[in-house]
Order: sequence, then C-alpha cells, then structure tokens
Amino acid sequence: MIEQSEIQVPPVPVVPPPYHSPEREELQATARRFAAEEVLPVANELDPLKGEIPRSLLEKMAGHGWFGITVDREHGGLGLGAFEYCMVAEELARAWMSVASIIARAQGAGTDVADPARRAQLLRRSAAGEWIGAIALSEPDAGSDLAGVATRAVRDGDEFVVTGQKRWTGNAKAADFIQVLVRTDDPEPGEKRSAGLATLLVEKERDTFPDGITGTPIDKIGYHGFVTWDLEFDGLRVPAANQVGTGGFADAQKWLNIARVHTAARAVGLARAAVEDCIVYLQRRHQFEHPIGDFQAVRFTLADMAARVEQARAFYQHVAHLIDLGHPCEREAAMVKLMATEMAAEVTADGIQLHGGNGYTTEHQVERHWRDARLTTIFEGTSEIQRKIVSDRLLPRSPLG
Ligand SMILES: Cc1cc2nc3c(=O)[nH]c(=O)nc-3n(C[C@H](O)[C@H](O)[C@H](O)COP(=O)(O)OP(=O)(O)OC[C@H]3O[C@@H](n4cnc5c(N)ncnc54)[C@H](O)[C@@H]3O)c2cc1C
Repeated sequence: MIEQSEIQVPPVPVVPPPYHSPEREELQATARRFAAEEVLPVANELDPLKGEIPRSLLEKMAGHGWFGITVDREHGGLGLGAFEYCMVAEELARAWMSVASIIARAQGAGTDVADPARRAQLLRRSAAGEWIGAIALSEPDAGSDLAGVATRAVRDGDEFVVTGQKRWTGNAKAADFIQVLVRTDDPEPGEKRSAGLATLLVEKERDTFPDGITGTPIDKIGYHGFVTWDLEFDGLRVPAANQVGTGGFADAQKWLNIARVHTAARAVGLARAAVEDCIVYLQRRHQFEHPIGDFQAVRFTLADMAARVEQARAFYQHVAHLIDLGHPCEREAAMVKLMATEMAAEVTADGIQLHGGNGYTTEHQVERHWRDARLTTIFEGTSEIQRKIVSDRLLPRSPLG
C-alpha cells in the first residue's frame, strides 16, 4: 500500500514565455497559495451548507488588491490587465468558483457615472473592495435574448421609476450596488430591438434590499458562495444621475466580452482542480492489488484531461493578451468561452468517473468542481449563443437566412 508521504502532488503550471515576467510569477504564486490556504478550507466547509463567501475572506482578498487588478494605480488599483485578472481568477476558481467570480463584481464595475469626481471616488472604492456589485441583466423572459429586456424605467423629474422583474441576479443582497439593464423607450419602427435600453446604478446597503426591491433566493445545485436572486422592482426610485455608460446594450456587450475570457479562466481553474484531485486519488485508490493509476485506460483519460486544460489555458492567455493589446476580440472571446467551458464540463465529469462511486458522493471535492463547471456552459451566454456569435462572424447568411 502506498504511504501518504509517497503520494506525488501534481506539477503546478507556471506563466510560460512569452507572457512570463517575475511580477506575474509572483502574483500567480501568491494567488495559488491564497487559494490553497485560505479559500479551499472555506469552500470545503461552506459549499455543502450553500453558504456565502465570508466577509473576512473578502477583506483578505481586498488586502491583496484583487478587487482592483484592472483599476489604474491612480485610483488605488494594481494597474494590471486582463491577463493578470484571468490568471488570478484561474487560481481562485481552482479552490471555489464563486471566489473567482466575486472579483468580477468590482474591477471598476458600477463606476461609469457622468460626474468625474464621483466616478473617481467610486473607482477607489471598487479597487479597495468597498464597492462590490451585482449585475441584473437577465429576466424571466429575457435570457439569451437580452434585447427582450422589459423592466421599465420611466423618467419622473430627476429620477427614474423602475418596475419589472429580474432573474438570476447573483450577489444582489450582499452587494453595494446593483447594475440594472432597463428599458427607457420602445424602439422606433426600423430600429434594432435593443434600442431604448439603458443601464442604471442602484446604490444600496450591504445585506439589505432598498424599498422598491423584493428578492427571492433561487435554490441552485451549485455555484454556492453566492446567493442568486429573483428580483421584483416595484416603483424603485433611482436618481437620473445614476444612469451609467452611454448605451445600455452596447455597455452590456463590452462587459460580456471581458467576462467571457474571465469565465474561460474560471473553467480552466475548475478543470485543473479535477486533474489535480485525480492525480492524488489515482495513487491512493487500489483495485486488483494496484493503485488504479497503474491502469492504462485511467492513465490515458488523465492525459487527455490534462492536455485539454493546457490547451484551454493557452487559448485564454492568448485572448487576454489580445485584449490587453487593445484588439477587438468579440469572436475570440466567444470562442474561448465556448471551448474552455465545454472542456471543463467534460473534464470534471471525467474526474468523477476516475473517482468511481466515490466521485458520486459529497465526500470528495471533484463533485463540487463538476457542479460548478456545469454552469459555465450556461451563464455569461450559453455555448449555443457563443457558437452563434462565432459563426455569424465567420459565415455570411444567404438572403434566405
Ligand atoms: C447560476 C446562474 C447565475 C447567473 N448569474 C447571473 C447574473 O448574475 N446576472 C444576470 O444578469 N444573469 C445571470 N445568469 C443568467 C444567465 O446569463 C442565463 O441563464 C443565460 O444567459 C441563458 O439564458 P436563459 O437561462 O434564459 O436560457 P434561454 O435563453 O431560455 O435558453 C434556453 C436554451 O435555448 C438555447 N437558445 C436560446 N436562444 C438560442 C438561439 N438563438 N440559438 C440557439 N440556441 C438558443 C440556449 O442556448 C439554451 O440551451 C445566471 C444564470 C445562472 C444559471
């Protein structure tokens, strides 16, 4: 029988050339250590209870500056790019996906107000982890088709009055703000269906809903650490100065592109977790008087899993790098979201298979990686919608199409 001390721990990937720099390597090492020491024990304890990320953990993350990785230094951020943002997200998701997600609710989100002084103040709060939000795009009848958003914002003096329903708003109650996609006008004949959409910033206290919003939690099968909410807006009053950005739908699209690469990085973190857990388990578990890791079928499955993780990481690093260079990346962001999340759903399912019956229990972490990875092909735009985005940019439709 193999001794505990003889278990080989998995090799850890490092930042490869041409992306390598000593600063990136240090950031990656810090995030990896933090994930193993601070996040993983919390995930193992709270995920089975459907618990929320503790405030103390958020404060430690804020201490590392991870809510402002992409916020400029002038406003208290780390002044880094999409590459570092995704790198940290992969490390955090390796331990618990929701912790990798919460950093996306800052990074300057909810700060794009017209008044420069207020914008600067909100950016500082964002970078400090004191302005962590929720994004309310989806509705009961508008998911993939965001142009179908029906939540109404009617101008009344210096305010908007908001009425309607949102679905799937993650972190809504715990948030400092909710960024809401609303309809202020109907499209004129001949205009796109997305005409008349706008984004409003709802400021709020953490752990409460303001008058005019009622929240009902949605009972999910995974992605714990966050509570996800159905929201009812019933005459909520929002100052007109809280209209953010220039156009609701265009803003949402821009945000979704970066979010897609970040989702790819989270997917890679989850799939890597399955590979790493399997490397340990395959040495521990014995059948036919061998560690099951001796059997070629199992070894080859592991090899395929690991190769797919490396491939997806190389792709998301490439797309993040393109974003940092300022290239328009809508097609590539959709491609990497599609490819990395489908990979993660399959690789984590393979991880369950390699754990045998034990994989189908709550006694091993691989089931959490699988439940969380399963979501990644659905949220931030489903795989089918990513295929639509990519194919629409590759292949013109005929006049019949
Ligand atoms: C746990 C969780 C957290 C979420 N968090 C948030 C959040 O914080 N904020 C937020 O705004 N939203 C959030 N979402 C919503 C998420 O983005 C949507 O679920 C997603 O965009 C899909 O929309 P839908 O669920 O309405 O599915 P639908 O749009 O109803 O799609 C159902 C099926 O039809 C397919 N389909 C739809 N249209 C087409 C088409 N044109 N071509 C081919 N196939 C199509 C889809 O791919 C899918 O397979 C979250 C969702 C979940 C499950």
